[in-house]
Amino acid sequence: MNIDNALKNFERNGFKTFRFDSAEKLQEYLRKEIIGTTVGMGGSVSLTELKVYETLKENNTVYWHAIDRSAENFENAALAKVYILGVNAISETGEIVNIDGRGNRISGAIYGPRREKVIYICGTNKFEENLEKAIWRAKNIAAPLNAKRLGLSTPCAIHADKCYDCNSPQRICRSMSITTHPTSAESIIAVVNGKWGF
Ligand code: SF4
Repeated sequence: MNIDNALKNFERNGFKTFRFDSAEKLQEYLRKEIIGTTVGMGGSVSLTELKVYETLKENNTVYWHAIDRSAENFENAALAKVYILGVNAISETGEIVNIDGRGNRISGAIYGPRREKVIYICGTNKFEENLEKAIWRAKNIAAPLNAKRLGLSTPCAIHADKCYDCNSPQRICRSMSITTHPTSAESIIAVVNGKWGF
């Protein structure tokens, strides 16, 4: 697994990429890159661990449903100029895989009528060799651990080992995106060395 090679493949597809060796370096970059604007954020353990909300709210108006789950806050996040999200898996061959229950994160990354910039943030633990393995990771590692974290009664949350392709009313896997190229906004992949999120 060669992460620098993965980033070259994303650059070839039109992404800007950055790699940081610590959370502090990422925060320093975000403070310089995002100032005086509106920011929407997708749900993400990585973003929580990396203190992205706390960093950005110093100089921006940040809309994140982890802080406020009102419809107005979701709407403001969708309309923000910058959208920041984590990834469930990312491949060396140049694909970002995300699975959503609600769809706000996937849709926010793909489109926003006022969107100027999208930043995907992830640890090196999210990388896989190819798309097939990235989809497997998103389904069998990220989703079950998320279901467990949310205290759901899906089979994956109870056993915490794999996806059972359930049809539970609490199923959190309802839509999957595979992103290969930026859509309407400048798109950035920021990788932080180490294990962040799951
Ligand atoms: S489809 Fe169901 S069992 Fe599979 S990861 Fe999603 S919630 Fe868990």
